[in-house]
Formats: sequence, structure tokens, C-alpha cells
Amino acid sequence: MNGPLLKVENLTKHYPLGAGFLNKTTPVVRAVENLSFSVEAGETLCIVGESGCGKSTVARLLMRLMDPTGGRVLIDETDIASLKKHALRAFRRRMQMVFQDPFSSLNPRLTAGQIITEPVENFERLSRKQRQALAADLLRKVGMAPEMMHRFPSEMSGGQRQRLGIARALALEPSLIIADEAVSALDVSVQAQILNLLMDLQEQMGIAFVFISHDLGVVEHIGHRVAVMYLGRIVELATREALFATPVHPYTEALIAAAPVPDPTRVRLEAPVEGEVPSPVNPPTGCAFHPRCPLAVERCRIDIPSLTPMSDGRLVACHVRAPAAGVNAQPVVAANSSLAVR
Ligand code: SF4
Repeated sequence: MNGPLLKVENLTKHYPLGAGFLNKTTPVVRAVENLSFSVEAGETLCIVGESGCGKSTVARLLMRLMDPTGGRVLIDETDIASLKKHALRAFRRRMQMVFQDPFSSLNPRLTAGQIITEPVENFERLSRKQRQALAADLLRKVGMAPEMMHRFPSEMSGGQRQRLGIARALALEPSLIIADEAVSALDVSVQAQILNLLMDLQEQMGIAFVFISHDLGVVEHIGHRVAVMYLGRIVELATREALFATPVHPYTEALIAAAPVPDPTRVRLEAPVEGEVPSPVNPPTGCAFHPRCPLAVERCRIDIPSLTPMSDGRLVACHVRAPAAGVNAQPVVAANSSLAVR
């Protein structure tokens, strides 16, 4: 099959907040606005941003756990919204999810073996011997002893539970795994083991990942490309190398500057960006980052910047750093200024 495995076109999700007493208009949460991106087979696209930026809503939309307000999600050119119940169920074999909190996503009354084989048994009948062989094989794949199939989740450590969650996701041999903050509840050393496991599995099985995280260290470790989200929109999409070496969008620069710096030779940037992420119920006009952006010009308060291709292939939505062709916006401070979110 030619073309990307996953293609997202103008994906939008607005939630009504419920009509208040005497209110004539219902407030709307603009969780995701006009997102477009693609993921190739065997690739890891990371989606990164502060909490409340809409990245977990994107995960649910990709899995069709909720319907979008607008836009499309295509897997191998098939729009998943066009699939009826039976076809959608069959299609879901190809897409699996790994959650942040493995404990609450695993049935505490089932053993590890039952948890792993349950998704397969929704599609085909397995003999006892087949179930045991499948569970043992998948436990081995995620670095656990086959004997663990008789344990319950409550008898496992956090890292073992997350490995079990990955084994369950692998059971249906998916082409794409959506991992939503999949390592953020784990200790740093266990995080590294799980990330390395996912990278090994990708190499062996050619699985693509959409890896959603607020942690830039994790993203730098695992991502091939990175999409930075701010208040429901992608503001920069670049290869991992380009993004971390030379961030272009002022928000990307601020995020990287604010992240812990394990490398003592890397200089931390200083000037802070003040303030909180605005509410998605009442987002700022124009560029949503303008109230916090020291580079803002008048146009930023009026026009929403569109994602514009740069000479190195990355996409950036910024009137100053990536002006659309024919537009000449002058920054109010020097373009090489340094920023950090506080
Ligand atoms: Fe947004 Fe303007 Fe700042 Fe660019 S310069 S990030 S468009 S506020």
C-alpha cells in the first residue's frame, strides 16, 4: 500500500459545556482545532505539549473512541468514520492503545494470561493450549517470564503492569499503537526500559506509534518526528533532530528551554515566558500564544497563523518566525531571543 499508514485531515473536536441557567449560548471547549498530519508505517510521531493542550483528545479521536466535530482520520486511505459496526471492529485490530495508568486499564480480576488473550478471543476461538502459547510468547516479547501469566495485575510492579499492557496491545498484531502518556507514571529507570522495549518492538515488527507525552526527554528519546501542540493546534512539526537542535516556534523554544538539561554542555536558555495556558473555552484571538509571546506583533492578535513549510521541510505556525509568502511581519524583539515557559 502506497501513502502513509495514518492520515489526519483538519481534525477538530469541540465539546459543549452544557447550557448554563439563563444562558442563551452554550459555552464550547475547543479541544482540537484543524489538525493535519500523517504517520508512515514503522514511524514514531510524538505529540507534545502542556497539559490541557488537547493531545489526549487527539488519541481518543484517532481510536474513534469519540466522534470528531470536523475532519477525517484515514488508515490506509480508509476513513474510519465511514466504517459500520462490524467493519470498525475488524479495523480496530490494526490500532491498539497503551494507556498512562496500566493498573486502571487492566481488569484486576483476570490473570495476565487472560488479559493478553482476551482481545484475540473477541475475534477467534482459542484452545487452552493456544491461549497459553500466545500468552507465553507475548510475555517473552515484552521481557517477562512466561510463568507471569498466572499472576494478577495487583501482584506486579508498575513496570511489569505496563509491559503487560503492551503485551495485550501486541496480541492483535497491530500496525499502529497510540500510546497516551504511556511511561509518565513510571520511575525514570523503568521509563527507559519501556521506551527501549517499544523501540525494539518497532524494529522487529514494523509497528508505527503515535506517542503522546508532556515530557520532552521522553519525546527526544523515542520520536522520529515531533508535533508540538498549543491550545488545540499544532504550532510546529519537525524531525526530532531539527526540533531539538533549532526550535523555530517561540513556544517550542520555550518548552525546550524549560525542560531539565541532562547534558551539562547544553546551555539552558534564560528569558521566561510568563503566564498559564489560556482556557480552550475562551481562547485568545489570532495566535493563541500571543498573550505569552514576547515576539508578538499586532497581526498576532488578529490572524491565526497557518502551518507554513520552512526550507528544511518542517512546518511552523508563526507570523514572525515563519511568515507566509508575501507577508513581512517585524518582530518586536530580536528573532534570536531566548524563551522559557514558567
Ligand atoms: Fe504567535 Fe506571533 Fe508569537 Fe508567532 S510571534 S508565536 S504568531 S504571537
